[in-house]
Amino acid sequence: MTNVTQSQIKEALERVDSTIENKNIVAQGWIKDIAIKDGHVAICIEVPPELGQKLEPIREKAENLVHQLEGVISSTVVLTSETENPETPKATNKNIKTKLALPNIKTLIAVASGKGGVGKSTTAANLALSLSAKGLKVALFDADIYGPSMPRMLALSKEKPHSDGTKIYPVEKYGIKVMSIGFLVPEDKPVVWRGPMVMGALEQMLNDVEWGSIDTMIIDMPPGTGDTQLTMSQRVPLTGVVIVSTPQDIALIDARKGLNMFKQVEVPILGIIENMSYYQCPSCGNREEIFSHGGARATADELNVPFLGELPLDIKVRENSDNGTPIVNADPNCIQSQRYKTIADKILLQLENQKKKAAPKISV
Ligand code: ADP
Repeated sequence: MTNVTQSQIKEALERVDSTIENKNIVAQGWIKDIAIKDGHVAICIEVPPELGQKLEPIREKAENLVHQLEGVISSTVVLTSETENPETPKATNKNIKTKLALPNIKTLIAVASGKGGVGKSTTAANLALSLSAKGLKVALFDADIYGPSMPRMLALSKEKPHSDGTKIYPVEKYGIKVMSIGFLVPEDKPVVWRGPMVMGALEQMLNDVEWGSIDTMIIDMPPGTGDTQLTMSQRVPLTGVVIVSTPQDIALIDARKGLNMFKQVEVPILGIIENMSYYQCPSCGNREEIFSHGGARATADELNVPFLGELPLDIKVRENSDNGTPIVNADPNCIQSQRYKTIADKILLQLENQKKKAAPKISV
């Protein structure tokens, strides 16, 4: 198979009309970035903010033309625009970005971890379902660009969000609205996007999706504390963050890094969850602390942030996640589901406390 080159891609993009001044999108200087890896192409097009959603047909055309080139296995085009919200005061630190406006989403909670594989996505899905079971209108946004797992975890691998040309509609499953970066990039394909592209895609998904009115959006963050996570926490108006960690030292060191990053950008820490906290044998009741135990609670105490609870290693949790029915949906009354629900209650309590702290004090 021949390798496609940057100039071949640019040539294809020159065939896409920008609809302004008879210029194509390359001549407009809109092509921000092109990344190619093993036949997978990702393109970031930066457009003037006022044109925004009108340009969906242009995005689609660019994607199709590039996909038709020899040597291209997949092509993904994301639109971005640099918006300045005039109502947002200019931040003193020039690295601080303006926040996205998401007026129909009352509360946005990030579920984050210092490193991958600690059960962040499993926790995010089960917490979203626990909040939904309480009657809240819940959205689950899978922003884990390095390993989007919601399509698999919610049995949505064959689903694509529906679009009517201007708006994209989230997929609905088990009573919650779901969007995943995995709907754009198949799980088994390497992610070739660079920082700005990731942000562009995430912003497009947050902004252009018709979420409707939502009480709580759970955001499954990419693991780690790199630029992507930092930019996301600056751009998305997060109400707070929940950190998931396993008990052993190394995961906690990473979790501390995560905590510090969110503190640095002034996102309130709603608490830490210790996942894979221990294992209790279902037949003999014997308890084993496979990854040690209690580290997350000790760290929470030390750093003066709330500890939200322990979730043991449980084979049913893993099996249900892998089968596309998270345990809170598959067996809502079992002990493990009750644990997720208790943690969801504690998160709601933290949100209440936070509101009280933010409310102006009336002194007589
Ligand atoms: P992350 O999002 O941090 O990368 P995942 O949520 O994908 O992690 O979890 C990694 C693996 O661990 C998955 O196979 C998942 O089913 C499993 N897992 C997560 N939490 C538990 C738990 N409490 N008990 C058993 N398996 C778990």
